Amino acid sequence: MIDRVERELLIAGRWRPAAGGGTFVVENPATGQALCEVADATPADALAALDAADAAQRRWAAVPPRGRGEILRRAHDLLIERIDEFARLITLEMGKSLAESRAEVTYGAHYLRWFGEEAVRIDGTWKVSEDGTARVLVTRQPVGPCLLITPWNAPLAMPARKIGPAVAAGCTMVVKPAAQTPLTTAALAEVLREAGLPDGVLNIIPTTQAAAVTEPLLRDGRLRKLSFTGSTPVGRLLMAQAAGTVLRTSMELGGNAPFIVCQDAGVDAAVDGAMTAKLRNVGEACIAANRFHVHADVAEEFTEKLVARMGSIVVGAGTDPGTHMGPMIDDRQRSRVADLVSETVGAGARLRAGGEVPDGPGYFYPPTVLTDVPEGARISREEIFGPVAAIQTFTSEAEVLRAANDTEFGLVSYLYTRDLGRALRMVEQLETGMIGLNRGYVSDPSAPFGGMKQSGVGREGGATGIDEYLEQKYVAVDAG
Ligand code: NAD
Repeated sequence: MIDRVERELLIAGRWRPAAGGGTFVVENPATGQALCEVADATPADALAALDAADAAQRRWAAVPPRGRGEILRRAHDLLIERIDEFARLITLEMGKSLAESRAEVTYGAHYLRWFGEEAVRIDGTWKVSEDGTARVLVTRQPVGPCLLITPWNAPLAMPARKIGPAVAAGCTMVVKPAAQTPLTTAALAEVLREAGLPDGVLNIIPTTQAAAVTEPLLRDGRLRKLSFTGSTPVGRLLMAQAAGTVLRTSMELGGNAPFIVCQDAGVDAAVDGAMTAKLRNVGEACIAANRFHVHADVAEEFTEKLVARMGSIVVGAGTDPGTHMGPMIDDRQRSRVADLVSETVGAGARLRAGGEVPDGPGYFYPPTVLTDVPEGARISREEIFGPVAAIQTFTSEAEVLRAANDTEFGLVSYLYTRDLGRALRMVEQLETGMIGLNRGYVSDPSAPFGGMKQSGVGREGGATGIDEYLEQKYVAVDAG
């Protein structure tokens, strides 16, 4: 498939080179070798993309809901039909194993299917005003042209989670994929076009100059919505820029998930959940477990079992059939994780597994377990974004709740306990938008994915996900 993927910018229904003809290299993280070159959009290209989105908006919003929904449904079917081709493409540019890439294709496609179904359920209301002299009719309309900025860690699912609701709501779009992984987004765009998406509705501008290219769009009053998935520092920056035009924003930002194992958890179940929550996506997930808080009574058993399971993980090129875990995305991310581990060990933590950067090409890093992590260590405060489990112990519910909530992030927590009362008490007090209760995986298109605190604003998916792309308008009708 990689030979057939478009490598240019999609603007107004035409793939075209960047103004000035610039390109950049996309690498295979398993080898460090170039896969291909892709057009490098400039600020002028970004404005051309917004021109196209703006020009298409009125016509697109007039397409009946069922028509919009069916495009998404067809795109879902095409993705599932071509799951192996898409999985290979994801693995080539992002690194994760083929099995994980297949799961991402299914997950992303299911967002398109979910929002295809939501397109026909955009309701309004009718009510009698308080004093009875008017009828209040509330309708919901597409917000208008959107800028969708996506990260590299899920190059199909992250765009699908934004494009799905935008298409369902009747919005046009400019998508800026991450420079590490522009190919899957281009292939997804082709599927949507094949499914019937009209020209100009979806425009794509890969670029290495993210800030320079998005800045003119954020200043332009024609842009009506920004949806961003990425790191909290970039999210803060974009929110500040968006203030200039009082732009609606949705922010899916970083996480620092606590993974809490109570004394009554059932250690085997907790270890199963930990393997998923920690190693899924090479640990490069905003919902990855970041801080392991394990009750002192079961800490050693949990650690030994986790170390054994992590030791059985086969690390290698994602395209090799026997691989469980692929490489990290690039050298920068791997060095960041390796430095974090060395710093933590230097501060007194014990290295129980992994921790060594292997020789040879590719950005591989082994599953790593640290115990005795000192309180306040940087590894507990920052998002690790790699396959490293940092374990601390606790002895009381109050203590672990305080520690779990002691972060500016609030995306997800994982809680393992078989005591229902304890589960309910703790769920109510955890300050995160999502909680995996006796479960290491929370994502689902029918659920409102998103975070509290500095993990974001807004939700993607679920019954309210489409609201992020709709304006409310009410009409007061005189009934006197
Ligand atoms: P990043 O913030 O560096 O980049 C994300 C996107 O923003 C990329 O497309 C990048 O090119 C673009 N970008 C970077 N600087 C920009 C700027 N100044 N102006 C405009 N665009 C800019 O993050 P990343 O390294 O690609 O991804 C990792 C981060 O994403 C992690 O923090 C992770 O937690 C987060 N993430 C969050 C979710 C979620 O749903 N909450 C999902 C996946 C990843």
